[in-house]
Amino acid sequence: MMQKSGAARRAEIAGAGIGGLTTAAALAQRGWSVTVHERAPTLRTFGAGIYIWSNGLRVLQAIGAYDQATVGAHIGPQFHTRDHNNTTMEEIPINGPGDARLITILREQLINSLVDTCRRSGVEILTSSESVGATPEGELLLADGSKRKADLIVGADGINSKVRDSLDLMMYRKHLGYGAIRMLISRDDGDVPAEDRERYIEYFTGSRRILYTPASATDLYVALCCAADDAAALKVPADHKLWTQSFPHLANLVARFGDAGRWDAFEVVKLKKWSKGRVAILGDAAHAMPPYLGQGGGCALMNGLGLAAAVDEGTDVAHSLADWEARERPMTEHTQDTAERLGDMNFWPDDVRSQVLKITGQSREIGAERMKTARHAPTATVPLP
Ligand SMILES: Cc1cc2nc3c(=O)[nH]c(=O)nc-3n(C[C@H](O)[C@H](O)[C@H](O)COP(=O)(O)OP(=O)(O)OC[C@H]3O[C@@H](n4cnc5c(N)ncnc54)[C@H](O)[C@@H]3O)c2cc1C
Repeated sequence: MMQKSGAARRAEIAGAGIGGLTTAAALAQRGWSVTVHERAPTLRTFGAGIYIWSNGLRVLQAIGAYDQATVGAHIGPQFHTRDHNNTTMEEIPINGPGDARLITILREQLINSLVDTCRRSGVEILTSSESVGATPEGELLLADGSKRKADLIVGADGINSKVRDSLDLMMYRKHLGYGAIRMLISRDDGDVPAEDRERYIEYFTGSRRILYTPASATDLYVALCCAADDAAALKVPADHKLWTQSFPHLANLVARFGDAGRWDAFEVVKLKKWSKGRVAILGDAAHAMPPYLGQGGGCALMNGLGLAAAVDEGTDVAHSLADWEARERPMTEHTQDTAERLGDMNFWPDDVRSQVLKITGQSREIGAERMKTARHAPTATVPLP
């Protein structure tokens, strides 16, 4: 058993994504000595936007990253779901008095704000440093053959986590048969009618969706979603003719799609346990989910801060990790399960989906279930001003 003492406790973290960087900053701010190992040669991420709800914003505030992360962010007035006729099936009000808060920014800006927060907090970040596994006794194993001993090891190395797989923690990994191409383009007044420009809008036709997301005054984040066997639709660069046929009302927007874009399949990961001995697993490595609630990153933020709070409160790391999982896992699993259920409607006929969404859109209970994570007060955070 490792007791708290005058000497700083050490953490070694695999992965400099949202989860790893948040955990690193929060631990360092509690007096831990922290090193993050990132496999990539740089800390840059790809070109896309990201939705951050109130729960994630509270975590950014708690670690001191909020101001930098949110400068210039887009703050939309509603989230619309539209059917194949461009008729609104559901409207979720946001950012008004009593509503959940939601902002959208570039992923690059979020990662930069977390990296800068880590550096200000004294975290060491090593790039081109690949982790290949860990031991429950507290060793991070690196691809160059070296071992780093620490009080706490964190596997935040994404959906294909090598740290997780070295410890036999997987309960299941499910492919949902669906995915998205993400791209960033500049905003243009002709993309959508004036009354829609500031909104977040998800357009459906058949099993295809286009997600329209302003992510700053000048950047538009677009996600093209389709079944994983819809070979013509998941091609990058996106096929303009095909997407215009499915969404004729968005012809101006589709005509401006560029050549860049990244396809990701949607998956769910659930683990037998979130830790083994001194090793914790978090973020997509532990609880990947489809993005229908825009909360995968939100859960990585919450669980990173929650982990730092838990190990800082306790003296025995393994016990603290069990306490952490007991405290955080129910909200994360609620989020995963709700997001997975929302994905079912991808494969419904248009008319059925329209009817169901019109009815469920009126239900307070269903609305509350969907907003539960956004309205959650994460561990070690206070309300936003
Ligand atoms: C289409 C789509 C849209 C999404 N939209 C949203 C949204 O709007 N809002 C939201 O909150 N979430 C969203 N998500 C989910 C969100 O992107 C993820 O949940 C989040 O990025 C997970 O962060 P992470 O740090 O766990 O993993 P990652 O972001 O995958 O980071 C893992 C890091 O570890 C590094 N790494 C990998 N392997 C190793 C290794 N062996 N050694 C060292 N380093 C390694 C990687 O290079 C990477 O930097 C979306 C996901 C998808 C697919």
